[in-house]
Amino acid sequence: MSLLSTENISVQLSAPVVREVQKGHPWIFDKGILKQNKAAEPGDLAILYDQKRKFVGIGLFDPESPIKIRVLHRGKPATLDTEWLIEKLSNIFDLRSELINDPQTTGYRLVSGENDGMPGLVVDRYENTLVFKLDTVAWLPHLNQLESIFCDLIQPERVVLRISRTVAASPSCPDHFKEGCVIYGPELSGPVIFLENGLKFEAEPIIGHKTGFYLDQRDNRKRVGKLSKGENVLNVFSYTGGFSLYAARNAAKSVTSLDLSKPALDASLNNFKLNMRNPVVSKTPHLQICDDAFDALRKLAAEGKKYGVVILDPPSFAKKKVDIPGALIAYERLVKLGLKVLEKDGVLVSASCSARVPAETFFETVIRAAAMARRPLQIIEKTTHAIDHPIGFPEGAYLKCVFGKA
Ligand code: SAH
Repeated sequence: MSLLSTENISVQLSAPVVREVQKGHPWIFDKGILKQNKAAEPGDLAILYDQKRKFVGIGLFDPESPIKIRVLHRGKPATLDTEWLIEKLSNIFDLRSELINDPQTTGYRLVSGENDGMPGLVVDRYENTLVFKLDTVAWLPHLNQLESIFCDLIQPERVVLRISRTVAASPSCPDHFKEGCVIYGPELSGPVIFLENGLKFEAEPIIGHKTGFYLDQRDNRKRVGKLSKGENVLNVFSYTGGFSLYAARNAAKSVTSLDLSKPALDASLNNFKLNMRNPVVSKTPHLQICDDAFDALRKLAAEGKKYGVVILDPPSFAKKKVDIPGALIAYERLVKLGLKVLEKDGVLVSASCSARVPAETFFETVIRAAAMARRPLQIIEKTTHAIDHPIGFPEGAYLKCVFGKA
C-alpha cells in the first residue's frame, strides 16, 4: 500500500495557520481550515493550500481528532510515495547514527513523531523488536506500508503495535489492531532484553510504560553513573531500575530503588540479575523500598538516612494546563524532601517530564525550593533531550533535568 493510494483532499488554510505550518508547526486544528473539497476519511492525504491557491504542504487527515491534520511535508509539491518515505526515514536514522552504530546500545527511539516530521508515529527499537506507537488513526491505513519499509530497512524479528486510548476506542481501528498486538513476526512472551551503554535491561514492549522502557533518560543515567562512585545512591521513582544500575556499575557504595509499583521493583531486580556477571554490579548492595515517594522520603528523613546522590524522576505531574500550579508545588515538595536525605555536598538530580511545565519554570522551582530549604543548589548541569528524542516544535520539549550540589 502506498500513501499515494489513499484519497487526496484539498484543504485551504487560514493565513495565520499557513505561517505556522511554514515555520514548522505540525498540527492543524479545525479553526485553521477555511475550505475542504470533500469529507475526509482517516489517513487521507490533505493537500494544503493558502488563500491564493498556492501549495503549502501535505498532511495526514484525522477527522476524529481535534488535530485534524498532521503535517508530513512542507515547501515544494511532492509525491508522498514509498521512495519519499524511505528518504525521509533515512534522514531520520542519520540523525541517530551514533546510536544505531553503537554495538553497546541496542535500545533507542528510531522515529520520534512530530519531532522527526512523522507526526503521530513513534518507532522504538529494543534489539530486534520494533514498537510502533500510534497517537492517531490516520496512520492505520498506512501500517502495512510502514511495516514493509521498516522490515526492508531494519530487518526486525517482530513489530509490536501500541496505540493510544483514543485510537483503541475509535470505530476506525480494526479489531485485529489491538493495543500491544504483534503485527509482524513471532508472538512475544515476556520481556525483550537489550543493551544500553553496555548494561543489559528488560523492556516490556507489550505492557510496559511508554513502549516498554524510558529510553529518554539514557544520557541522564550515564551522567548519574559518573557521579555515583563510592556514594549511597537513592533512586526515587525508580521504575525498572535504570538509574540504579548505572550507579551500581559505577561502584556506588549502595543503591536504593524506591517506587510505588511492586512489578516495577521486581523488574529492577531482574535487571540487576541480568548484569550480575559484571563484578562491580554484583558487589553493590541493591535495596528496594515499595512505597509512595513522598511518604518514604519523610520516613527515611525521620530515620536519619543520608545519601550522596538522590535522583527524583517522577511521572508527569501536569497532563493538563490546570494541573500546572499543582505540579510546581509537588516538584517543590519533592526537592525539599529529597534534600532532607541528601548528605552535605551531595548531588540532587531532579527531572521533569511534564511537557506543560517549561524548562525555565521547572529549574526556577527546583532552585527556589532548595534555597527555601537552606540548601542552595550549586548547579552542575541542566540537561534536555537525548539525540534520539530531538525537539522539533515547542510542544515536543518535555524532558528537563537539573544536577546540583547542595
Ligand atoms: N526513572 C525511571 C522512570 C520513572 S517513571 C527510569 O529511568 O526508567 C515514574 C515511576 O514513578 C513509575 O515507575 C511509577 O510506578 C512511579 N510512581 C508514580 N507515582 C509514585 C509515587 N507516588 N511514589 C512512588 N513512585 C511512584
